[in-house]
Amino acid sequence: MFLTFAQPLKPHRPLKPRRRRGRLVPMILLACVFPLSVGCKPTNTDPGSAMAFSGEYPIKAVATVGMVADLVRNVGGEQVDVNQICGSGVDPHLFKATRDDIQSIMAGDIVFYCGLMLEGKMSDTLVKIARKKPVFAVTEMIDKSLLISADGFDGHPDPHVWNDVSAWSQCVDAVESALSEFDPAHATQYQSNAKAYRAKLAQLHQYGVEAVATVPKERRLLLTSHDAFNYFGRAYGIEVQGVQGLSTESEAGVQRINDLVDTLVQRKVKAVFVESSVSRKNIDALIEGARSRGHDVVVGGELFSDAMGKTGSYEGTYFGMLDHNITTVTRALGGKADPKGFGGTLEAETIAGESE
Ligand SMILES: [Zn+2]
Repeated sequence: MFLTFAQPLKPHRPLKPRRRRGRLVPMILLACVFPLSVGCKPTNTDPGSAMAFSGEYPIKAVATVGMVADLVRNVGGEQVDVNQICGSGVDPHLFKATRDDIQSIMAGDIVFYCGLMLEGKMSDTLVKIARKKPVFAVTEMIDKSLLISADGFDGHPDPHVWNDVSAWSQCVDAVESALSEFDPAHATQYQSNAKAYRAKLAQLHQYGVEAVATVPKERRLLLTSHDAFNYFGRAYGIEVQGVQGLSTESEAGVQRINDLVDTLVQRKVKAVFVESSVSRKNIDALIEGARSRGHDVVVGGELFSDAMGKTGSYEGTYFGMLDHNITTVTRALGGKADPKGFGGTLEAETIAGESE
């Protein structure tokens, strides 16, 4: 589960985390693998003891994106304080750690990131940090058969796995395992927190399946700014199209916009969706394009694709983020869902609902 350092550092080189279930790898051993390390001899033969937490509680955990921070909060409970590096509304594909961010990460005891190349521009930083402290990819324990392979993403799977609640709930295991080994004194607590959280996520997943199923079949098309919802589409039975590709780094071409306008007009699609962390200019171009051909499309709502809502709000939790997305998509496309969502606490005004 740790990063491995056998590869030289190159810009945008993918991290290749080592798969280790239930064992932490002592950093002293890993440092020896890294070619720049000199004069280090592996002397510790007990992997667990080299990495166990020995400071003052709460443990200072650092997480890259909100969804990862939220996982660590839920599993860590009161023993762990989480510092999130990418704020709400920040696009993780484009996020580059500043000097301050690196200092914040270095001030932590343990670091969690999503992986699957989501934090593409932070790869080098994470590799460097992993020389000094434990760094974990939360997606490392996901059943590989659940990952969606992606065209044009350098052979990497689609990273937006949190949009399938059942797949994301497998990331709870990675955090549970990492914290239990880092802080064995509270392992039982982490395990019981993880179990309770998995049960909560299973209910949310079921809500998603049932809610989206109420959208009339021919209307089940989720059109958004970028390709963040492939997992959502597979999990909840809805066709997905993104204007931009898997990463927001590459711009959408005119041809792509024109093709999607064709789809909107031909299928009489009523609503398209903007994303909180991505510019809405492409979605506006689609709406304009459809209108110029005599078909009115509305913005069905703003979805949280790669970043959660405002810190401190319900939508600023992973649970609230997915509740919002499921509820918004269902209602805007003509399905049935309570405007306040599964949790009963969504802000109703953010849910556009069916416009007819
Ligand atoms: Zn994305």
